[in-house]
Amino acid sequence: MKVEFFPCLIEEVWGLDLAIHDERATVQDLIEAIQPWCDDNQIYKAYLAEKQGPCRGCPINCCRECFVLPDAISFGWLHESLGVTPTEFIKRYFDQELLSKGLPRLRSSPCIFLKEGLCTVYPHRTLICRLYICTPMTDEAQTMVYGVVAAGIGEFIRLAEEQGLLNIQGANVAWSGYEKMMLELIRFEADRADNPFRGARDYQSIPLRSFCSEADWQVLTQKKITSK
Ligand code: SF4
Ligand code: SF4
Repeated sequence: MKVEFFPCLIEEVWGLDLAIHDERATVQDLIEAIQPWCDDNQIYKAYLAEKQGPCRGCPINCCRECFVLPDAISFGWLHESLGVTPTEFIKRYFDQELLSKGLPRLRSSPCIFLKEGLCTVYPHRTLICRLYICTPMTDEAQTMVYGVVAAGIGEFIRLAEEQGLLNIQGANVAWSGYEKMMLELIRFEADRADNPFRGARDYQSIPLRSFCSEADWQVLTQKKITSK
């Protein structure tokens, strides 16, 4: 196991911390490490009525109230698997009102791909879908997860703008809260010349080492696993 999430007490509830056991760990390893926690029934899950339990059968289901922006890799997989061009995909599946204001978000509430409680594009779903879980995380774990997600979305935006599919540079809307923070982060990643997603075709070719400072990397690779 190259990457491991493990339970950690955060403000008196059990959330997740992150340890990296192998310097060669990739984004795919991060995805595989978080997924078993969806079935866990001990860590705290903010949107469950009981606050603990598996995601399966969750009445809230984050897919219903999602904030999903595709990353560079899932965007390619999604439009190819649906047999539509990138232009057609954006027209059919993006929220057109938000897009006109500069936010390239999938149609939501519920997510356009949720049918009878199930994701119809599961093998091709976005990084946010793969890495989101409504539990608290330590700062290092959160920084890694947010960094990976923002870089993937940023590279999608850069590519889409380069190909003339999107033009969100000039948007001038007074966003607040989560949208504002997310947009600033992904704009930074879209403009970053050394974005680790640049040129990547899958998640296993992107090293996690590229997403944090030397100091954070030392913390993550030397982390001692504590058991609950
Ligand atoms: S991560 Fe999503 S599906 Fe799982 S408990 Fe939280 S809201 Fe429900
Ligand atoms: S793409 Fe699938 S996993 Fe992601 S929010 Fe939509 S239905 Fe849920």
